[in-house]
This record gives sequence, structure tokens and C-alpha cells, in this order.
Amino acid sequence: MSSVQIRDVRKSFGGFEVLHGVSIPIEDGAFVVLVGPSGCGKTTLLRMLAGLENITSGTISIGDRVVNNVQPKERDIAMVFQNYALYPHMTVADNMGFSLKLRGARADEISKGVNRAAEILALTPLLDRYPRQLSGGQRQRVAMGRAIVRDPQVFLFDEPLSNLDAKLRVAMRTEIKELHQRLKTTTVYVTHDQIEAMTMADKIVVMHDGIVEQMGSPLELYDRPENRFVAGFIGSPAMNFLEGKLVSNGQLYVETANGSRLPIAAAPTASDGKPIVYGVRPEHLEMADDGIEAEVVVVEPTGAEIQVVARIGTQNIIAVFRERHMVIPGEKIHLRPRPDLAHLFDKVTGQRL
Ligand code: ATP
Repeated sequence: MSSVQIRDVRKSFGGFEVLHGVSIPIEDGAFVVLVGPSGCGKTTLLRMLAGLENITSGTISIGDRVVNNVQPKERDIAMVFQNYALYPHMTVADNMGFSLKLRGARADEISKGVNRAAEILALTPLLDRYPRQLSGGQRQRVAMGRAIVRDPQVFLFDEPLSNLDAKLRVAMRTEIKELHQRLKTTTVYVTHDQIEAMTMADKIVVMHDGIVEQMGSPLELYDRPENRFVAGFIGSPAMNFLEGKLVSNGQLYVETANGSRLPIAAAPTASDGKPIVYGVRPEHLEMADDGIEAEVVVVEPTGAEIQVVARIGTQNIIAVFRERHMVIPGEKIHLRPRPDLAHLFDKVTGQRL
């Protein structure tokens, strides 16, 4: 195990800079998830960690060693990709032991390493099969087994669950997390799926357009997003944003263009009349007679919850209820945001107020 330090790292392809000075401290044994929309630079950063991409400027250290100029195979890392990359003509056991063989390990060492990894991943009965004889989930487990066999300082995962169906993804998510709890190997995991990030990470790093927007524990990011981007990216369904103006002369609320009053618990450090984006998560809206009038547009029951899309003035808003409110499209309802759980952002800068 090792800590990893990414310090002011930049990356350009030709004259085009795609990472603009990224710094991420990763503690020894942590499970860090890099998450962000397509094209934000997370795979590029992971490939730089792996040594598959040059670093334009800045440093990356693994343990005490700056690895900028260290070859991938000398970095003591193991990477698991989205497309498994198993050798089709080799059995599961041979696939898993291949890196040890390349390293010149003895046959008994290889089989000990392979058997240990197979046991951890429940692959023992499948060791003699070929990749074509395995399900997608089993293949992904073999790819992880191959990484475990190497007993590396750091695991790197690049969207490892993208090729799996929804149910298997959830199961594999748990498996990877459990694996990390057992092995405690420092892990950097890339995904664009914020649910994966929330459920698996010790620390989430939200990236956007080549910068880090915010880092923190999953609940820190959910409870206190530092800006509108993070607020909209973390949480599902996404946070609702309503535009309005701050009213703080005696009373305290945000007033929308159509005159709705959105309650807030404490005055932000902003002057009266300031244009504000008011954020409220769908799960923090309640039905209440003194709430804001809204017209139901669509009702989506999931069984455990009911999601209601409603219109306030010209803006759509999503509310999620665990109670079985029987509402129908066209119906007028009243929604009250929980003032203590509302988020206020500067309309111009998008920063939290
Ligand atoms: P995705 O989730 O779609 O994989 P990502 O966040 O991993 O996205 P990257 O693959 O790291 O994003 O790409 C970041 C940016 O760098 C993108 O604008 C991409 O077009 C660009 N890029 C990546 N690799 C190269 C390359 N070899 N040459 C030129 N531009 C590249």
C-alpha cells in the first residue's frame, strides 16, 4: 500500500490543454473515486498515474517516489479496464498468473498467488475455463483477480462496470467495496456514474472541464456542494434549481419571478435583491398546504417512492415522496422546500453563498 500525491498536474495534447493544474492528495489505503461528465479528463489523469500518458507539468508521486519518469511496469500498480482485456486463448488461471510469469516467478509461487486471488473472488471452480465460457460478471472478476495477483501498491480502475447489466453492476459494486475492505489497497476508481461514486468512495473528486470542482466524502458533497455544478452532479434525481432574488429586509426568503416565496433558514452573506439560484433536492420537498403552488405534470411511481414532476410558473421541479401521495397530472399541489436543507448559489459565479 502507498499514498499517492497528484500535484498541480497539467496535460496538453498538442497545443490543447485538457487538465489545468489538478492536485489530489490520496491517503494510504483510501478508495478515491474520480467522477465527472464525459471529456472532463478523468481517464487521462488515471492513465498518467499508470504511466501510459506523459505528464506535461506537475508531479505524481506513489509513496515517497516521484514517478513522472518511471515506466508503467516499475510503478507497482495494477489497472482494471472497462473491456477486461483478457487473453482469449488462456484459461482463467493462466490469465490471472500471466503477470507473475512475465516477472519470472516460480510455478509454485504463481499457483499460490492465483489460488489466493481465486478464493477471494470465488473463482476457484472456474480456473480451467476460457474467457468465452464465462459471463460478463465472471470476466470482470477475472480481470480483478489478475490485478490482485500482482499485489500492487495501488489499484486503478477505469469504468470497470460499464459493460455489465444494471443488476450485476450493483452486485459488483458491493464486491469491489468488500474487496477493498479486505485488502485495504489504495484504490483510484474512475466513473461517470455518481451513484457508483457515492456508494463506493471514501473520497470523491468531482472533475469538470479539466479542473477539480470539489473533493470530499460522499456525504460532504451531498450536504454541502461548493458550487452549482457539484450540486447538480451529485444526487439522483438531480437537485432542482429555481432562480429568484434574495429578500432579507426583515423577512427572509428567495422570491421567484412569478412571486413564489422560497423559504431559507439563515441569511447568506449577500445583499438584499441579489440574484440567487435556489437549490432544493427532490427528497427535501414536502406536500404542505402553506407550500408553493405547483401543477403536476408527470407522476412516476417506482414502488418504494413516487417521483412527481410539477411546474412552478415556467420552471419544472421534481419531488420524491416515500409516502403514497395519489396525485394526477393537471392537479394543483403545494410543495414546501425544507428551509434548513436549501442551498443558495450566486447566480453569476455559481458559488455557494
Ligand atoms: P469519458 O468518460 O468520455 O471517458 P474522460 O473524462 O475520461 O471522458 P478523457 O478521456 O480523459 O475524458 O479526455 C479528456 C479530454 O482530452 C477530452 O477532450 C478528449 O477529447 C481529450 N483527449 C483524450 N485523449 C486524447 C488524445 N490522445 N489526443 C487528443 N486529445 C485527447
